[in-house]
Amino acid sequence: QHAAFRTDLSVLLDQVGTGKESLSFMKRRIRRLAQQWATAANRLEAKLEQRWRDQKKILVHVGFLTEESGDVFSPKVLKGGPLGEMVQWADILTALHVLGHNLKISMSVKELQGFLGVPPGRGSCPLTGPLPFDLIYTDYHGLQQMKQHMGLSLKKHKCHIRVIDTFGTEPAYNHEEYATLHGYRTNWGYWNLNARQYMTMFPHTPDNSFMGFVSEELNETEKRSIQQNKVNNMAVVYGKEASMWKQGKEGFLQILHRYMEVHGTVYYETQRPPEVPAFVKNHGLLPQHELQQLLRKAKLFIGFGFPYEGPAPLEAIANGCIFLQPKFHPPHSSLNHEFFRGKPTSREVSSQHPYAEQYIGRPHVMTVDYNNSLEFDSAIREIMRTKVEPYLPYEYTCEGMLERVHSYIQHQVRFTNLSRLGSTGGSRITGPLFVPLPNTTALGWASNVTAPPAWPPLSSLRLLVSQEGQSCVEACHSAGFICEPAHFRFINNKEALLEVQCEVVDSEINHILPAFSVVRRECGLQREPLLFSCAGHSPKYRRLCPCRDFRRGQVALCRDCL
Ligand code: UDP
Repeated sequence: QHAAFRTDLSVLLDQVGTGKESLSFMKRRIRRLAQQWATAANRLEAKLEQRWRDQKKILVHVGFLTEESGDVFSPKVLKGGPLGEMVQWADILTALHVLGHNLKISMSVKELQGFLGVPPGRGSCPLTGPLPFDLIYTDYHGLQQMKQHMGLSLKKHKCHIRVIDTFGTEPAYNHEEYATLHGYRTNWGYWNLNARQYMTMFPHTPDNSFMGFVSEELNETEKRSIQQNKVNNMAVVYGKEASMWKQGKEGFLQILHRYMEVHGTVYYETQRPPEVPAFVKNHGLLPQHELQQLLRKAKLFIGFGFPYEGPAPLEAIANGCIFLQPKFHPPHSSLNHEFFRGKPTSREVSSQHPYAEQYIGRPHVMTVDYNNSLEFDSAIREIMRTKVEPYLPYEYTCEGMLERVHSYIQHQVRFTNLSRLGSTGGSRITGPLFVPLPNTTALGWASNVTAPPAWPPLSSLRLLVSQEGQSCVEACHSAGFICEPAHFRFINNKEALLEVQCEVVDSEINHILPAFSVVRRECGLQREPLLFSCAGHSPKYRRLCPCRDFRRGQVALCRDCL
């Protein structure tokens, strides 16, 4: 059946249910953005020109909100707890509904069992027969619950699962045996999924898919009136929980206060939190629409280093603020920071909000060293002088999110049984030493591959060789492309190493392969497709990198991807 766009959200609102603060928050958000979604649906519909879209049967199981996982989030919705996840789930539900799919929503293990056809009262009775869904969106908590209640059949149905995973999961952590053998075992990883089945909040980990969320959009009239009403010396501090204001913040708050009126939205019960200095005008935790109003007036939205990678900076920039944030020297990661410890990624976070730093940048975003008070001081003065327009990257608009989710649903269908396409053996390849291979469009050898049709299409592939120690994430990025894990299977062969002088070509299980050592003239191909990794790097190896082009403002999609 064809999936027809929906602009009426009342059925969705009924489906979300009631009885918890988290659900009320999500429903308020869905209602508030309803008009914006409707406009986006109409635009995308026109853009796709009557293209056929399969209607899918989709189950959304929000694991972290189930009582069975302890649901620590719901009680904190009105108390300064994390809201980013709820923002994202509200938007995922809306996108799937608006795209016209047949949606079932589960927020408890009982509902999950009901939808999967597990008889009630028979807790761990495994699902028998075919899966009644084409796709299941869940999170790590939900995945665990599904393992408990579907038993072995989970394995069979794994390719239908998508895991919403804010910070991302790298292939080395995802592969159970490899992670265990090589010290990548964490509380979360080792599910042996295709890494693209993990979907992140920002496009920070190209091994995973980028799900994202949306932010408020402004029309031209609103933009103009915002710019006219900006208060040049008004700053809002990013941090709704008092603990985010602790320790060592007085210094730069004092500097800030020298120039600007400082506002906060810190949750408090009866008394002002002692962490918040007296000169700060604290509004308490605000409902989302009131926060937007405050951001419309403010010139500066300032981060203190935590929370990492949340939605609020995008909302601030969309409302015409400049976002000022600390640079991290050295970068924070699971190796050196408590927050990331145990997360299934070695990603290095270079500032509080690397997406804002790398994808948006000046004049909307300034990333500075907060320990250097001169640098901090001059940043504040520059911000007061600078005029900016409200800005929202296309990928965070409703249309952008609909376009991306539509493409994933229609194209990302085959995740299991990746054929092992790498050639093996110890044959000798001669030729000039490691000439980088940019713009290899004539991939004659790649088209011989018999496999499911490629998506992204092969036309988007650019083969590059990284520097020693450099990952494919960096190598592709520095050439203006993005690493595309789906393309690894086309470059994991001797033909792709044609320009490299290899004494031997081995095929091994190692997440930095395909790669080669210049000194030892050793070339290695990947034997385990689940370990194809954009993130992998090693000081002695240059990697073969499958890069691709991308659409402006929509990095998840290549130019011919739609
Ligand atoms: N937010 C809010 N009221 C406030 C402060 C923030 O409703 O006073 C919302 C904000 O609009 C954003 C969400 O909280 O969409 C999450 O914000 P944040 O970036 O702080 O990320 P988190 O750590 O909560 O996931």
